[in-house]
Amino acid sequence: MIPAPFDYVAPATVEEALAALAEHGDDAKIIAGGQSLLPVMRMRLNAPEWVIDLGRIPSLRGVRDDGDALVIGAMTPHSVVGSDPLVAEHAGLLTNAVTELADEQVRHRGTFGGALVHADPAGDLGAPARALEATFVIAGPSGTRTVGADEFFVDLFESAVSEDEILTEVRIPKHTGWGTHYEKFVRVKHQWPIVAVAAAVRVEGDAVAEARVGLTNMGSTPLRARAVEEALTGQPATEESARAAAAYAAEGTEPPTDLNGDADYRRHLAQVLTRRALVAAMASCGGAA
Ligand SMILES: Cc1cc2nc3c(=O)[nH]c(=O)nc-3n(C[C@H](O)[C@H](O)[C@H](O)COP(=O)(O)OP(=O)(O)OC[C@H]3O[C@@H](n4cnc5c(N)ncnc54)[C@H](O)[C@@H]3O)c2cc1C
Repeated sequence: MIPAPFDYVAPATVEEALAALAEHGDDAKIIAGGQSLLPVMRMRLNAPEWVIDLGRIPSLRGVRDDGDALVIGAMTPHSVVGSDPLVAEHAGLLTNAVTELADEQVRHRGTFGGALVHADPAGDLGAPARALEATFVIAGPSGTRTVGADEFFVDLFESAVSEDEILTEVRIPKHTGWGTHYEKFVRVKHQWPIVAVAAAVRVEGDAVAEARVGLTNMGSTPLRARAVEEALTGQPATEESARAAAAYAAEGTEPPTDLNGDADYRRHLAQVLTRRALVAAMASCGGAA
């Protein structure tokens, strides 16, 4: 279907984009890569009168090193994040997840920030963002604020970014030397995950010194599997430890039931995929037995 008619503006700065948002209020919608917004507009589930395109604001693109963190501009396409050497070195979990996201065409157009603001609980970037303890820089009418990953995902398709705000960049604390893996379960390649698990471990000697685990599509927002993390920390970096910790993966989750599977099926998947993700993460830093 063809979207309802709309006016289009492509500001050159964040300030101009915020001014356009303020001027048009509820009648306006930000567009980034358009990979989620345009299908919704084509189905006429959303019909903004004004579309504000962030694609001509150079400051919103790219990956840079900022000491103990990487900074990823909100408008950086998935394909750029997936092939960036800094991301691979310091936040390998994002490389793992982005390269599993959709197909090459979507990765070329879709943006890192757009996917996170969209806050689809089945989206592939939320769980890694939570596991890596990302912080989100949000510009609005009264200045800039920073929100942590635990507060960013509010509910189903709802992030902390308000209608009059713009996500400008995401700060990822460096996890240099950590073993990482994103285990995504799909029936058909390139689909959204039925369940997925993002795992990062820091191995010291033969033991797991730190562990971070994020869950995709196990609730209305991406989740952090803290019980798994606690069970694994301090344990030997072995498959047996991974299996024992993974048994806690469904704790505190409220997975959906849909045509792909019911909640119990997803709870089972979460345990299996967590074990696999942890073992692969340990192996990726030479830690697994
Ligand atoms: C065929 C197909 C398959 C896909 N498969 C997957 C998949 O397997 N896994 C997955 O994770 N995703 C998948 N996606 C979604 C993809 O990741 C999109 O890139 C993403 O959901 C939205 O990013 P975008 O840049 O296209 O945002 P847009 O569609 O342009 O915007 C999405 C929403 O976010 C808002 N927004 C965007 N950027 C900002 C910003 N900087 N500040 C404030 N608001 C903003 C928009 O107003 C809109 O409401 C798929 C999409 C398609 C079309």
